[in-house]
Amino acid sequence: MSAESPGPKPGFRAFLSSALRSKKSRQTLRKANRSTTDLRLASRSSADEPPPPMPALAPLQAHRLKYEQAHAHLDSQLGEYRDFTTMIHSLGLLEPDDTYGPAEIDNAYRKPGEEDIAKLSPEMWNYIAGFLNPTDAASLAFASITLYRRLGTQPFMLLERPENYNYKIDFLVGLDRSLPHHLLCFPCGRYHRRTQEGQERIRPAHVINLLYNCPNAQNSLNPPPKNRITHGRIMHFSFVQLTMRAHRFGREYGIQAEDLGRRWQRDGWSFSSRFLIYEGRLLMRVKSQTFAEPGLVPSAQRLLLYSREDYCPYFSACAHWRDGELMPACKCALEHIPKPRDTGGLQGLEHKVKDRLQGRQFDPHALTLLCGFCRPMRRCPECPSEYLIEVKISEDKSSPREIVFRQTIVVTRWTDLGDGTTPGGLEWGAINGKRDDYDSFAHYAKRGIASIFEAAFTADTLPGQRVISMNPNKKKLGEDGHDWY
Ligand SMILES: [Zn+2]
Ligand SMILES: [Zn+2]
Ligand SMILES: [Zn+2]
Repeated sequence: MSAESPGPKPGFRAFLSSALRSKKSRQTLRKANRSTTDLRLASRSSADEPPPPMPALAPLQAHRLKYEQAHAHLDSQLGEYRDFTTMIHSLGLLEPDDTYGPAEIDNAYRKPGEEDIAKLSPEMWNYIAGFLNPTDAASLAFASITLYRRLGTQPFMLLERPENYNYKIDFLVGLDRSLPHHLLCFPCGRYHRRTQEGQERIRPAHVINLLYNCPNAQNSLNPPPKNRITHGRIMHFSFVQLTMRAHRFGREYGIQAEDLGRRWQRDGWSFSSRFLIYEGRLLMRVKSQTFAEPGLVPSAQRLLLYSREDYCPYFSACAHWRDGELMPACKCALEHIPKPRDTGGLQGLEHKVKDRLQGRQFDPHALTLLCGFCRPMRRCPECPSEYLIEVKISEDKSSPREIVFRQTIVVTRWTDLGDGTTPGGLEWGAINGKRDDYDSFAHYAKRGIASIFEAAFTADTLPGQRVISMNPNKKKLGEDGHDWY
């Protein structure tokens, strides 16, 4: 009623109610409607009650909305899941799939999971592969024939690109276990058939020693990865590969670490190498020794230590030997070899008398004592190499008639050649001077390479020496520094 209305009067109200009374047909409909909601109300007369409010939506429309809310994650046309999380879960957890269980890696008789893989479309698998690096994408495509059919050749085409060379090598290294009769060639980026299977031996650098037939074997622009052991001796990465493969997978995959050791002589020096596998990496020890005369002048010292061919030390050294104190320490050790007294002339006579009075005699076999500079073991800060310089007495077998002992300088190097998977590895890269992110004092903080190595062969005892840095100031002058020569 409006505000102006004079107010309800009994007579007027009765008139209105009779005027607004609903039609007969409507009355029946409302009655039926009421009966479904409240039976007690239905028994009462509805004549004097206002009509019930109309629902906001028609019942059919309301039902449709309710259905849409309940099935919001489903595509109405295709019946497919719209939500990716639901989709992934439905693959295993929500589907009534009794075969689903945790991955049974150790069960050799497990059921193949091909059906589960096939549930996803090629587009979906390509989408997943899009998140992986080229190595992992190719490994995924290589894992099973179903995955290969889903992903196609695209991941392998990607690996062939020159900029993906390292990814390709990583992928190929993963196939090592399935190829015992082949060896991965790094210049070619492919596996070659081993031609000397089980008979591979390290030979001098000038001997052609092909482990497989390779089109790049003589290509100096694309050489195989190698490391200089000593003058005229090279360690090809293939030998590290073969040794570590045999260690990881079995004898038929390569050669044993014991078989790598060699003894050889060259340019008046004699060398011996020995190998050990420790915590998945190949360690090498090279002992180099030569006879040293007392009182050598600097030029004679150089002649003794350096090869005339490449001006590198005859003994085994890492790529950083020019920096730091390795060469000065070697020269210092040479200067400690006792010199014979000059026994000629008046001064010689004086020495003779003095020595006789003090009961002293020149002994060419006297022990050489090294000083605080040349005695400690040196460790290269940039690569896993440790050096020990010693002066010892050893027998000179070159004279057949008499037994002659002479002073000998011995330079021993212990080094870590890495795990033998790729030449880009940390240790191999560091000893060749190709990486500058190696910190040997962090990697061998607790125990030195030499101590690990010598503990494995108890027959060899190592004098207890403190280990100091070969290049304490980390000055890197290389060829420009003059200390090395
Ligand atoms: Zn090759
Ligand atoms: Zn010294
Ligand atoms: Zn080094």
